[in-house]
Amino acid sequence: MDENRSTYEFQSEAKQVLDLMIHSVYSNPDIFLRELVSNASDALDKLRLESLSDEKLADAAKDGRITVSVDKERKTVTVSDNGIGMTKDELVSYLGTIARSGTKEFIASLREAGGGDLIGQFGVGFYSSFIAADRVTVKTRRAGSDEAWLWDSAGGGSFTIEPSDRDGWGSDVILRIKDREPEDDASAGRDYLSVWTLREI
Ligand code: ADP
Repeated sequence: MDENRSTYEFQSEAKQVLDLMIHSVYSNPDIFLRELVSNASDALDKLRLESLSDEKLADAAKDGRITVSVDKERKTVTVSDNGIGMTKDELVSYLGTIARSGTKEFIASLREAGGGDLIGQFGVGFYSSFIAADRVTVKTRRAGSDEAWLWDSAGGGSFTIEPSDRDGWGSDVILRIKDREPEDDASAGRDYLSVWTLREI
């Protein structure tokens, strides 16, 4: 599979936001789950909208579903949806760059305020995965397409993309939950592999 795997650098603003997430000191580390569920919900809305002009998508759009699951052995939390999914090009641009203007100001205010609410407001929700995870994998298949792709990153400066397979359209965002010492950061006291914690959030 290695020859099919391509490596990409994060755009520098995206990398800065990511670094802030990894070393987060947010008062509300739980925010990542809300952000991922909100992205999944947007993905269902986008599929519904697209199905209005594309009959092939109509059936799939009827039964929108978001699932949050835990694998304690693998130490993963997965947020799955059967929404719009992403093409390879969309993966590169949506999960590797920040298109919004004002990113510099945003990064500066995050550094100063460390405020979790800013994350949602600015729309860099996906990167907040790295508050809880040391590795994030996205398996996705764009609605209408036969091709599935695997996006993978352990933070750092880069991510990889390779061909994959997936039953049905949509996305799985798989977080490998960090091992943390209590003094590490604000999320250290939280057990994200506990179904009860996730339900509570
Ligand atoms: P925002 O959602 O505010 O645009 P994010 O950083 O959370 O910012 O996500 C970036 C983009 O990645 C989204 O706009 C969307 O196009 C894409 N994306 C993220 N999660 C999903 C998903 N589950 N399904 C489809 N596309 C997604």
